Amino acid sequence: MKKIRTRFAPSPTGYMHIGNLRTALFEYLIAKHENGDFLLRIEDTDQERKVEGAVDIIYETMREVGLHHDEGPDIGGDFGPYVQSERLPMYKEYADRLVELGGAHYCFCSEEAVEKQRKECELINKAFKYDDPCKHISLEEARKRIESGEPYVVRQTIRHDGATYFDDEVYGRIEVDNDILDESVLLKSDGYPTYNFANIIDDHTMGITHVVRGNEYLSSTPKYNLVYQAYGWDIPTYVHVPPVMKDDHQKLSKRNGDASFQDLVKKGYLPQAILNYIALLGWAPESEQEIYTLQELIEIFDIKRISKSPAIFDINKLTWMNGMYLRAMSLDEFHELALPYYDGVIQSDVDLKAVSKILQQRVEVLTQIPEMIDFIDALPEYDIEMYIHKKMKTTYEIALKALQASEKALADLNDWSSEESVHEVLLALPAQLEMKNGQVLWPVRTALSGKQFTPGGAIEIAHILGKDEALRRIAVGIQKLEAAVHES
Ligand code: GLU
Repeated sequence: MKKIRTRFAPSPTGYMHIGNLRTALFEYLIAKHENGDFLLRIEDTDQERKVEGAVDIIYETMREVGLHHDEGPDIGGDFGPYVQSERLPMYKEYADRLVELGGAHYCFCSEEAVEKQRKECELINKAFKYDDPCKHISLEEARKRIESGEPYVVRQTIRHDGATYFDDEVYGRIEVDNDILDESVLLKSDGYPTYNFANIIDDHTMGITHVVRGNEYLSSTPKYNLVYQAYGWDIPTYVHVPPVMKDDHQKLSKRNGDASFQDLVKKGYLPQAILNYIALLGWAPESEQEIYTLQELIEIFDIKRISKSPAIFDINKLTWMNGMYLRAMSLDEFHELALPYYDGVIQSDVDLKAVSKILQQRVEVLTQIPEMIDFIDALPEYDIEMYIHKKMKTTYEIALKALQASEKALADLNDWSSEESVHEVLLALPAQLEMKNGQVLWPVRTALSGKQFTPGGAIEIAHILGKDEALRRIAVGIQKLEAAVHES
């Protein structure tokens, strides 16, 4: 069997759309599942859309998620150059050859003439298909006009009769009447190819066996196949993949700030979690398992399990998955990632590693961290009613008793170096007071944090705050509760 070769062919737009990254992942998995090659090709023929630094974003993203290419502009390979703007002489040569083979013709029409026809079609609600008078110019005459310096494009020539079909790995047989296929421009007057041409020349000359791309290319693929046929080339295996959508109607769009890999990383998602999640967009493994390493995905990936239907990007699912990844890390790794989020939020001299330890169990997305730890430096204002916990039957009286006993017991504790000693002291209290654990721990946690929800419980928080600060906050709680009991 021929060695499988796939390619990721992004246009340098300045950001990595999640749908594109998903395509790259599928391309990578299809190749690597069979020990094949995965190439990176930069499609920069649309020079107007070129963005400075955009190619670096592509390299960086691929590196961050661990999709390493075997050939590409930065590392070379036997089939370069891997940037389309560096392949212009080649496209010109192939375009001329295609004209000789009858698969294309030179066209001298002005853009206005084409536009005029397009408008006319629009007016009568007819699908636009350029009826090109240049098709009737003899090759000899066309060459003369080119030599004399007249601007021209190379336009595909499509016969009107018959139909073209191919079998897509995902969408099955696609068949279209040749008559509806538009004869599009293959090579522009400035010598740049259009996507319609470059994709064919590049995929063929780079030995691509599997073309994986968005299903928006499905309808023009028959046109491309006619070009392959004109050259007498083998048609690659096509794997068109469904789009990634925000919901049933809307695509993920850059404008909403939810479409790019960079946006998600900025929001605190981990590259590995993102990659894992997008593997499941439009593809499903046989088992129920959802967490996979890249290596595991390589092993189980199967083209046959790619779905035709649009995939909905569910941020809640990604958030859940991200939390799973955070919890699966070592504390040291998590701490490393969490540290930047403490900046400017924790200035007091607390053990940051201990903070990381309680956070790791709770955080789903790193950007949640500042809000979760904002009580550490200063006790927030809080409502006295937070002491009431209905299920635990905690009243102001019970809370006050619990805090008073805790204050006394903790004041006697001198070794705060480990959580265990705090644990021992506080957990001895419920029995002494004839209360439930929660009736002691709830008020203590409330007094220490002033918050309803915190990472970690009363014991961990007391340990992090240290003796003086913990006692000071408990004293504040006692004061508040005394006033409340007095009033009622
Ligand atoms: N440059 C095209 C895009 O970014 C690639 C399509 C393809 O993979 O052939 O949409």
